[in-house]
Amino acid sequence: MSVWFPYTQLKTAEPNLSIETGQGEYLITQNGDQLIDGIASWWCAIHGYNHPRLNMAITEQLSKISHVMLGGLTHDPVEKLAKKLVEITPNGLSHVFFSDSGSVGVEAALKMAWQFWKNQNNSHKKSFISLQHSYHGDTLGAMSVSDPEESMHSVFSDLFPKHHFITSPSENTDQALTQLEKTLQDHHETIAGFILEPLVQGAGGLKFYTPEFLKEAQQICSNYNCLTIYDEVATGFGRTGTLFAANQADTTPDIMVLGKGLTGGMIGHAATLATNKVFDSFWSDDPQKAFMHGPTFMGNPLACAVALESISIFESENYLKKIKNIESILNNELMGFNHPSIKEIRVKGAIGVIEVYNPEKLKEIQNQAIKQGLWVRPFGNIIYLMPPYIISEENLSKAIYILKNCFTS
Ligand SMILES: *Cc1c(COP(=O)(O)O)cnc(C)c1O
Repeated sequence: MSVWFPYTQLKTAEPNLSIETGQGEYLITQNGDQLIDGIASWWCAIHGYNHPRLNMAITEQLSKISHVMLGGLTHDPVEKLAKKLVEITPNGLSHVFFSDSGSVGVEAALKMAWQFWKNQNNSHKKSFISLQHSYHGDTLGAMSVSDPEESMHSVFSDLFPKHHFITSPSENTDQALTQLEKTLQDHHETIAGFILEPLVQGAGGLKFYTPEFLKEAQQICSNYNCLTIYDEVATGFGRTGTLFAANQADTTPDIMVLGKGLTGGMIGHAATLATNKVFDSFWSDDPQKAFMHGPTFMGNPLACAVALESISIFESENYLKKIKNIESILNNELMGFNHPSIKEIRVKGAIGVIEVYNPEKLKEIQNQAIKQGLWVRPFGNIIYLMPPYIISEENLSKAIYILKNCFTS
């Protein structure tokens, strides 16, 4: 076996399905089977596959230059994308640092928060607060702020620095707020920031919580000189029903990370945005105060060109309306379903989650779904739909029907 596949015990796993092409919401296998993609390639393919406008944007850029370094050089697509992101993200975020994946975007955010304090001669503020059930990526820094016990990283948990984990607001908002305040009361002198996935905790189990938590948390953090970092890698670009999850609380974090849907799923890329307050602590005559980070492929022209086109499609084709429609179909056709093996069903934006008591059942449900023409991939004790936003109403209903059918048959 030459390809080392992710998160899988390869010895016992069934062979992966081989995909030949993609079209709209369909994945087409080498055998010619068509599968509705229920999870948008790990949530990033928001326009589905083979979108003519995205293809065109990337081909046009390809004929000019596909990559050039951002050290000492710049180019139109990166300049335009930075401006556009500043325009569409919450008010106050005004500077954009690019990188090649969500995890690296999170690393950049953590380093930015550290160096923010260090540049002000405060080298004590080094640790972070994070939520239980959080997931922020697979690299070392990102793993260290992801749930140490419940995530797929528990095998590495004694390798990285210990941060402060508080109750997830998805379980108890008041307790989460109390713990946040208490942790800051006791440790604010050593805490650089609070990193969180706003409204939806993704790979930690698709757990939802309310905008009120974000509002209150923002206030508590500012009382204790604690930066806030919103990891919107999964929630950004409409997934929770608004362009960004932050919009629902009307809050602006000090730092925000975007990835996944940023390029419409066409190429790996991420953006770490910061406010003037953060940026200004790096602005100095002292070269040591410059931000010390710079991935080779940051601001890749193909990625930037396709990201701009993706945002333009999102805006011109009123994707927020499409997402509302997906949400109401999920609410109407999935929410009321029940079965003795199901613990809870929840819906937010273009996310529909079925949580079960016994995760062992899910493998069989996945196999049945694939046989009936739906690609889904359960993790932990959930199986879920996070489809491309372009999915037709018929196919969304069909995907929901297949999932329900897998439980009852
Ligand atoms: C997927 C994800 C990441 C990591 O992004 P990669 O591109 O896989 O490195 C970080 N944070 C959140 C919330 C994610 O969902």
